[in-house]
Amino acid sequence: MVVAGVALIALALVVVVVAPRVLTRSAWTIDRPRTALVSWSVAVVLGVVGFVVGVALVVVADRPLDPFRLVESPTHGLNLGVALLGVAAFVVAVRVRPGAEHEAVRQAMRSGAAPHREIDGTPVALVEADHALACAVPGRAGGVLVSTGLADLLRTDELEAVVAHERAHLTQRHAVAVAVAESIERAVPWVPGARAMARSTRVLVEFAADDAAARRVGRDALRRAVLVADGTSALGAIRASRLG
Ligand SMILES: [Zn+2]
Repeated sequence: MVVAGVALIALALVVVVVAPRVLTRSAWTIDRPRTALVSWSVAVVLGVVGFVVGVALVVVADRPLDPFRLVESPTHGLNLGVALLGVAAFVVAVRVRPGAEHEAVRQAMRSGAAPHREIDGTPVALVEADHALACAVPGRAGGVLVSTGLADLLRTDELEAVVAHERAHLTQRHAVAVAVAESIERAVPWVPGARAMARSTRVLVEFAADDAAARRVGRDALRRAVLVADGTSALGAIRASRLG
């Protein structure tokens, strides 16, 4: 059991070290952002489960803990592993919090201050603001929000592209992926892979939302919309060239 435990810990460490290197240096992740996001999730699960179960196996084999009569069970190592995994999942879960900026937007949407307009079948909250802004707020009280400053700059097909992009963030639950990655980064900031995952996730969800929007409205309209809404940022420039 000790050997199995050590092997699992070693496997987990290899995954934690190798996966971020592979996933941040592979060109295919730019073309297949959703596959890359799934790969990050698999790496996290393998790393966490492998490490926790491995440690549990070593601990149980070496020094049986018996407050719950685990030793009488032939699967006590697994029991302890599952219990520890539950604790670890809890620790991560309580650290996952929706962004504070989302709460402010949600409040604005709930107050009815922003008139809703249907764009390409999606009710969109139009907020009176000069600067170009579009965002997707997850949750029942959430939705897609666009500033009048941005809507005024865009042609109809470009505005539909922006809405399709934001809607994809909601339907593909990108806020959850980003919140989990950022909570792991906060929990273990000294693990280089955790920082790489958070950074990579924030970019990959943009690519994934762009792909969904491009399928809906075409790459050209989306590319023009990205250049208008976000052309001055580095990520905006990369998104536009990716769509070119
Ligand atoms: Zn986006």
